[in-house]
Amino acid sequence: MSSDNQSSNDVLREEVRQWLAENWRPEIARTLSQEQYGWETSETRKAWLANVVESRWAVPRWPQQWYGRDLSDEQGKIVEREFAAVRAPGAGQDRINLWANTLLAGGSQALKEKLLAPLLKSEVNMCLLYSEPGAGSDLAGIRTRADRQGDHYVINGQKVWTSGAAVADYGMLIARTDWDVPKHRGISFFFCPMKQPGIEVRPLRQITDESHFNEVFITDVIVPVENLLGELNTGWQVLNMALAYERSSMGESARGPRSGVAESRNEEPLVALAREARVLAEPKLRQDIAQAISYKRLNALNSARAKADLEQGTSSSIMSLGKLAMSRILHEEARVRTEILGAQSLFEGEHYPRAEDANFLTLNAYFTSIGGGTDQIQRNIIGERVLGLPKEPEVDKTVPFRDVRTS
Ligand SMILES: Cc1cc2nc3c(=O)[nH]c(=O)nc-3n(C[C@H](O)[C@H](O)[C@H](O)COP(=O)(O)OP(=O)(O)OC[C@H]3O[C@@H](n4cnc5c(N)ncnc54)[C@H](O)[C@@H]3O)c2cc1C
Repeated sequence: MSSDNQSSNDVLREEVRQWLAENWRPEIARTLSQEQYGWETSETRKAWLANVVESRWAVPRWPQQWYGRDLSDEQGKIVEREFAAVRAPGAGQDRINLWANTLLAGGSQALKEKLLAPLLKSEVNMCLLYSEPGAGSDLAGIRTRADRQGDHYVINGQKVWTSGAAVADYGMLIARTDWDVPKHRGISFFFCPMKQPGIEVRPLRQITDESHFNEVFITDVIVPVENLLGELNTGWQVLNMALAYERSSMGESARGPRSGVAESRNEEPLVALAREARVLAEPKLRQDIAQAISYKRLNALNSARAKADLEQGTSSSIMSLGKLAMSRILHEEARVRTEILGAQSLFEGEHYPRAEDANFLTLNAYFTSIGGGTDQIQRNIIGERVLGLPKEPEVDKTVPFRDVRTS
């Protein structure tokens, strides 16, 4: 690195530190650190994010025209590290904000002007309208249709497993716009306004006894032409980019325990739990804990490598590695937690928060191994696109979708 770069990096680091010292006040930090997991963003968080966006720290690698600073990736990381050092959220959205990055890459000028800032400030809630009853792993088999009528599209169909649909303002929706070409080539990608007649959301109950995902019935729903992302019928490419962002964030982090009982911040949670349960000296458990922590550390390094590849415009398929690894890590961590607790893990209820957490994490691990594409599908992607193995046979790949046979 040249000394010019070094000194401009130092100036930037100092600028971020100073801004955080003036703005990241202890009462905001305290309020945000006590927030529980949920779909809706608190007013305090929205106000903080608005400040971060308006001060141009949310997406510093983006162009100045869109709330950025045109910084290099290395400089973007400096900003993120300073925010992370004081545990302040909001920076690094140019890497991880699925909605905003997809919109920036594929959206019309009008839609970007309307929604980019609200997305960065978490002022609008979003959901993903991809999966359908007959199209999950085989997503290109969707049958929801979009038909152009004047200055808008009319959407009809059904989606399922739609996380957050009940509170969403917009959904990123894929729909078929050409039935006479093979399945991957007739799909378009839209930002669909959710608060309108014709959208009916029915909650589904999950194995964790929560109800975050839903069935969505779509009848004569109106989507303006400017809400189309990418060109008509090129939605598959937009979708793949959006899936790469989703898999990358799922490969990096996952939801933690939900009991709200504090876990140690100074120690790895599994080590702290074993210490609390007085089993830290047991050799087999020590090995299991060490292995679970090693997987996690390794995955973080792999994920950094994948990000670097993505930033250079190479294939997004490497994101599948991180997501698959995270799925294995979550199942393994939940298993080790249960083993540490032994018979105590059979209890439940507010008096047994550690058991509640272990059981919740055991069930919730399936979120990562199914959502965003199952483990088996990630293995197919890795096999075909990373390892160069022969492609899975696909009998309907070249057939016009209208002629594809369904059960
Ligand atoms: C917690 C959670 C949240 C979700 N949120 C959303 C959301 O917000 N929006 C959305 O659109 N969807 C969402 N989904 C849906 C998710 O993307 C699908 O469940 C997933 O893609 C699998 O599709 P499917 O359920 O139809 O299973 P299927 O595709 O029917 O698969 C059934 C089984 O067959 C295996 N299989 C299928 N094809 C192959 C193959 N070619 N090779 C090997 N094995 C194969 C699968 O791995 C799986 O084990 C969510 C799912 C979960 C669990």
